[in-house]
Amino acid sequence: MALRQIRIMGDEKLEKVCRPVKEMTPKLKQLVQDMLDTMYDAGGVGLAAPQVGILKRIVVIDIGEKRNEPLVLVNPEILEQSGEQTGQEGCLSLPGQAGMVTRPSHVKIRAYDENMQEFELEADDLLARAICHEVDHLEGIMYVRHVEGELFEVTPEEEEE
Ligand code: ZN
Repeated sequence: MALRQIRIMGDEKLEKVCRPVKEMTPKLKQLVQDMLDTMYDAGGVGLAAPQVGILKRIVVIDIGEKRNEPLVLVNPEILEQSGEQTGQEGCLSLPGQAGMVTRPSHVKIRAYDENMQEFELEADDLLARAICHEVDHLEGIMYVRHVEGELFEVTPEEEEE
């Protein structure tokens, strides 16, 4: 298990647009594994490659309670979005804080998995929120840009992305 250092808001890597992955290499597979290890270790529900300093369009998400069903999204693209949900959001790059963010309640995406197999996925509620949050990271956008009202402090046990 290899943990990578999570960049904290203010780090310039978190403000860059990430590049698409053209082919899956052993190095990138290792990155995906390290991102999963790092996400689970930090107790997060999602992590994007720029959060560990790599400007590639790769995201890992696991919103399951058992923490064993990771979703790996390479070059994710939101095809459709609908509805609206407003809820608390946090980020591993801004530990200890959260804010209220409105997101679509439903998204349809296209992405590639860690073997570069293309797939489409429809997601609702928390998963839709996590996908939108992580895809934003690939565009250099932190959720604080969408926050309504003030950020507030949270205990470390609460979910962060
Ligand atoms: Zn985040």
